[in-house]
Amino acid sequence: ARTLRIGLIPGDGIGREVIPAGRRILEALPASLGLKFSFVDLEAGWQTFQNTGAALPEKTVDTLKAECDGALFGAVSSPTTPTKGYSSPIVALRKRLDLYANVRPVKSVAPTPAFPDPIDLVIVRENTEDLYVKEEKTYDTPNGKVAEAIKRISERASFRIAKMAGEIAVRRQNVRNTTGDAVGKQAMVTITHKSNVLSQTDGLFRQAARAALEAPQFKNAGVKIDEQIVDSMVYKLFREPSTYDVVVAPNLYGDILSDGAAALVGSLGLVPSANVGDGFAIGEPCHGSAPDIQGKGIANPIATLRSVALMLEFLEQEEAAALIYKAVDGNLAEGKLLSPDMGGKATTDQVTEDVIRRL
Ligand code: NAD
Ligand code: MN
Repeated sequence: ARTLRIGLIPGDGIGREVIPAGRRILEALPASLGLKFSFVDLEAGWQTFQNTGAALPEKTVDTLKAECDGALFGAVSSPTTPTKGYSSPIVALRKRLDLYANVRPVKSVAPTPAFPDPIDLVIVRENTEDLYVKEEKTYDTPNGKVAEAIKRISERASFRIAKMAGEIAVRRQNVRNTTGDAVGKQAMVTITHKSNVLSQTDGLFRQAARAALEAPQFKNAGVKIDEQIVDSMVYKLFREPSTYDVVVAPNLYGDILSDGAAALVGSLGLVPSANVGDGFAIGEPCHGSAPDIQGKGIANPIATLRSVALMLEFLEQEEAAALIYKAVDGNLAEGKLLSPDMGGKATTDQVTEDVIRRL
């Protein structure tokens, strides 16, 4: 059996309650998959900063690089006032490990009056450049201060993120065809940009993304190339979310779209994400450390369980991933063991056990 070594970075608050659930589901996967897991506990976050002076200890980075195939990151609390020496460990990890994509699937639980058709889409956000290169400056003028920021878009980063979006679209189509779920739904990647105004930066993103998606591997698989100006994209995403499949966007638009899309499905406790590079993936629930419910044992583990599956997908363990997704969907569809954020009474452990039972 193949052994995958997984770094566990619980972080702060409910991160410490949901990451153990992620470990449990990996340990509970059926032996027939021929997969084994070993784990290494790693530190990062606000508590770690207070203990050691570093939010992301070098040991965490070194261990991930040297020993691990993938990792799970819980959530971290940020200081409420700017604190010298503190910076976000997940942002640093994305840089240090060149995790150039942030992938966020958003899937509805049940039809609602506002959205009668199922929502099942993925936002693929470029994670290394755009306005987030953080090259800013402020200067004085006769009319007062002016601040500027660089928006950097490269052909290489735009191409590789769109290629990843295309690969995700193909994989989703294969899953639909094998599970019989929504067979016939058109595989599609929507390129998001504002090239009508930013003809050079977003123009380059659009052009490189198109070039990536026009490759034979995507054409032959029937992946449709769609595009949308970001502002009208927001409108349509909130009016007709069921029409989307995979959405690819530069960093800033992707950041905004992915948090917005998470709001379409109710609880933050349901929405997973993954930070992905070539050959490495970190699964990370999209919620924060939730200090208001910390220590009560009632955090919804589903965002983390889905993040585990998402990590496995990028480690090419699609069969294992599919089992977890299906078990989670089964728990939600039955609706008997739900955590309080979903209107239920179940604890983190009870939800986790119910999902494990369905594997
Ligand atoms: P949050 O996501 O922690 O919580 C928002 C609300 O959603 C809270 O009412 C919380 O109880 C609820 N919630 C979140 N996850 C849940 C779950 N799994 N189950 C049930 N309910 C859940 O956001 P916040 O309150 O704005 O931030 C709290 C702290 O987390 C802050 O310090 C913030 O900086 C940090 N944060 C970290 C991340 C991250 O690590 N990726 C993301 C967002 C916020
Ligand atoms: Mn964000």
